[in-house]
Amino acid sequence: MPDNSPQSTPAGALVFTTVLTRGPLSRVEIGELTGLSSATVTKATRPFLDSGYLVEERAEDPSGRGRPRSPLAIRADREFFLGVKVTAAELIAVVTDLRAGVRASARRPLADCTPEAVVPALAELVEELLAEPGRRRRVRTMGVAVSGDIDRAAGVVRSSPFLGWTEVDLGARLAAATGLAVLVENDVKALTAAERWFGSGLGASSFALVTLGTGVGCGLVVNGALVAGAHGVAGELGHVPVVADGPRCPCGRTGCVEAVAAERAILARCREVSGTGLTMAEAVAAARAGDEPLRAVFADAGHAIGLGLAALANLVGPERIVVSGEGLAAYDLIGERLRETFAAHAFGAAARCALELRPLSFEDWARGAAVVGIEALLSRA
Ligand SMILES: [Zn+2]
Repeated sequence: MPDNSPQSTPAGALVFTTVLTRGPLSRVEIGELTGLSSATVTKATRPFLDSGYLVEERAEDPSGRGRPRSPLAIRADREFFLGVKVTAAELIAVVTDLRAGVRASARRPLADCTPEAVVPALAELVEELLAEPGRRRRVRTMGVAVSGDIDRAAGVVRSSPFLGWTEVDLGARLAAATGLAVLVENDVKALTAAERWFGSGLGASSFALVTLGTGVGCGLVVNGALVAGAHGVAGELGHVPVVADGPRCPCGRTGCVEAVAAERAILARCREVSGTGLTMAEAVAAARAGDEPLRAVFADAGHAIGLGLAALANLVGPERIVVSGEGLAAYDLIGERLRETFAAHAFGAAARCALELRPLSFEDWARGAAVVGIEALLSRA
């Protein structure tokens, strides 16, 4: 695919993202939404029109007078993006268009989650998805979402406890194996990028996405920007300490939200109180059936998460906190305590922060990885 993507300026990026997330829009509407002058809007849109990323739609003036409006719209099939979510058990991949619409998806189980096994398996999955006629020439960027501490600029997974990876140069290895430009991002940050532009974060200048499951993740958007932190670590809600001298966390510290509320922590505690080796599904079923000691374990997890969310609301003051992740499957057991604790500890007007539940599939996570590629379009020179 010839590289004739637009040279992006700050005004260009602002105009493009405005049309991407809210379009089609007339130039006047773009000016109103961005605060840019009409001359600046016209100049900023030109490279995107020339390179085919934006198109002018002809629409008649509804009043029937004056010139027809020509709203600008995204040409969704101008470029496609690959997005992959890597879990310890499975690879989940999607192909999206420029507006993050999923055009195809595929999964591949992993018997072995070492980088030596994941890289060739992922390359095969990419081949399978790009084999569709006409698709390969539209795709040149792949986003890959991995849990843990990620050096996005270097494409390196510094540490991913769930995969057992340390200092893995995943970006370079996948680029060599697939021939694509590869962006590696923390999975929760990738999902947050997708929610910011195309999901429940749309229109909110500050919001947080919190994921419950194997870990407790959090992506933060403040004043419209994803917070990365000076050292690449920010919004680590899972490691906010909430229990003094509490249980040990997989991170090595004690009393973290994750040490109480991550799935494996809940299961370990359920086994302890029941004195049996029950599975998570059995623990959930028994708690739903009224087993009080088990119900208390889930309520404690809700309490820990509620404390973490209150800390988040008090520090950042987001408009809303979106709660997601596979842990939502047991939300009926943790939610009541979570909300009570949040309400009891949110300071003043911070309690106005809405808590929204949003179930998302692994394909949604993979779509988040694709959105990392869409974002990068604007910084591609
Ligand atoms: Zn921790």
